[in-house]
Amino acid sequence: MSRALIIGCGGVATVAIYKCCQNSRVFDTIMIASRTKEKCDAVKKNLDGKTKTIILTSKIDANDFNALVKLMNEFKPDICLNLGMPYQNLIIMDACLEYGCHYLDTAAYEPEDVNEPKWREKYEKRCKELGFKAYFDYSYQWEYSKKFEEKNLIALLGCGFDPGVTQSYVAYAKKHEFDRIDTLDILDCNGGDHGYPFATNFNPEINLREVSAPGAYYENGKWYEIPALSIKDEYDFDGVGKKNIYLLHHEEIESIAKNYPEIKRIRFYMTFGDSYIMHMNCLKNVGMLNTEAIDYNGTKIVPIQFLKELLPDPASLGCRTKGKTNIGCIFKGIKDGKEKTFYIYNVCDHEASFKEVTSQAVSYTTGVPAMCGAMMILNGIWTKAGARTVEEYDPDPFIEALDKYGLPSKKSYNPVMVK
Ligand code: NDP
Repeated sequence: MSRALIIGCGGVATVAIYKCCQNSRVFDTIMIASRTKEKCDAVKKNLDGKTKTIILTSKIDANDFNALVKLMNEFKPDICLNLGMPYQNLIIMDACLEYGCHYLDTAAYEPEDVNEPKWREKYEKRCKELGFKAYFDYSYQWEYSKKFEEKNLIALLGCGFDPGVTQSYVAYAKKHEFDRIDTLDILDCNGGDHGYPFATNFNPEINLREVSAPGAYYENGKWYEIPALSIKDEYDFDGVGKKNIYLLHHEEIESIAKNYPEIKRIRFYMTFGDSYIMHMNCLKNVGMLNTEAIDYNGTKIVPIQFLKELLPDPASLGCRTKGKTNIGCIFKGIKDGKEKTFYIYNVCDHEASFKEVTSQAVSYTTGVPAMCGAMMILNGIWTKAGARTVEEYDPDPFIEALDKYGLPSKKSYNPVMVK
């Protein structure tokens, strides 16, 4: 019987809330706290009478440390699920430490203002030392590890699908399938069609920052950076069919490289349709993806934030999205002295997700692991304190929980490899 504070009430949070409510024996009481309280109340209303979980709602600005601690002192959570924006990860971690509860998020910290001088100085140094320019990396959150350890608390970083389940697949492959893993390709395919010429399936600001940035992969201890979307291939996905895949930089490459140094090459690919890429390039070329504020008739406007207001809310795509997602990991390595390949993945249906939890599959594949990860902590199954990523914990109970709560995994021992 546990109490969970859920911050944010967008697509991902809505799924996690529905899933907590399907699991009332663990999630006895939840507090949904977000910037727009009406959204929290609307989700609560949809669930009232359908669950034994007690649902409370509150308005919060997650940039306000004192307000966060006050809310925690009043609600007394065992865990705080940060399912809002990654900009607030550090402040929410600080609040969890101050109050004394576990922490979970689904995306690595990145700053809202990438020109803040102190952050910029550290960032430029990292760009030079590591060789990739993404605004996010785990170093800021890993710095909290000791503080969480001292309080015997867990900060579970990046517990969505990717990052999240993909790392658990790595731990699973190492535990059950390989003596040594040599290469890993993470493949994220969204075969869904929402009918709009251009929309993003999760928060537009984070999505467009990620996709328009240079790609990067890790090989023999080094990062290799490439111009955005410049490595392209095609892959035939189970449940979806043939799609173009593009190499991106993604945060779990960093943690997997740290925790599984034996893996010689780690790459991450995502599918994009031609219409998405054409619109994104056009918006980038005209400056609409810029993160720096400009002055418009005396008002400060951040172009990418303004664009977010014009684009469809990802949470509103659910009712019109058809098709499936397929996300997983392809490994090559050695077992009992012999070379071996292995593919583990999940196929998730957009329409079935919407029917069950009123959100499309991209939110579903993120919200379900967030609930399952929280359950691992609350049930005392994952106990290693500190600020850690998913591959550091036993994959078996987590993958079993994912199977039970809607994300069963499929396996292939003879996959087509990416070139
Ligand atoms: P949405 O934009 O749909 O939702 C974000 C929510 O956070 C909104 O309810 C928003 O409030 C709230 N919020 C924003 N700022 C604040 C603030 N300062 N204080 C309180 N609440 C705030 O995003 P998604 O649900 O699509 O994504 C949520 C997170 O999940 C993102 O970090 C995203 O990167 C991550 N993600 C991770 C994936 C994975 O596989 N690991 C995949 C997909 C997403 P309001 O309603 O007022 O706008």
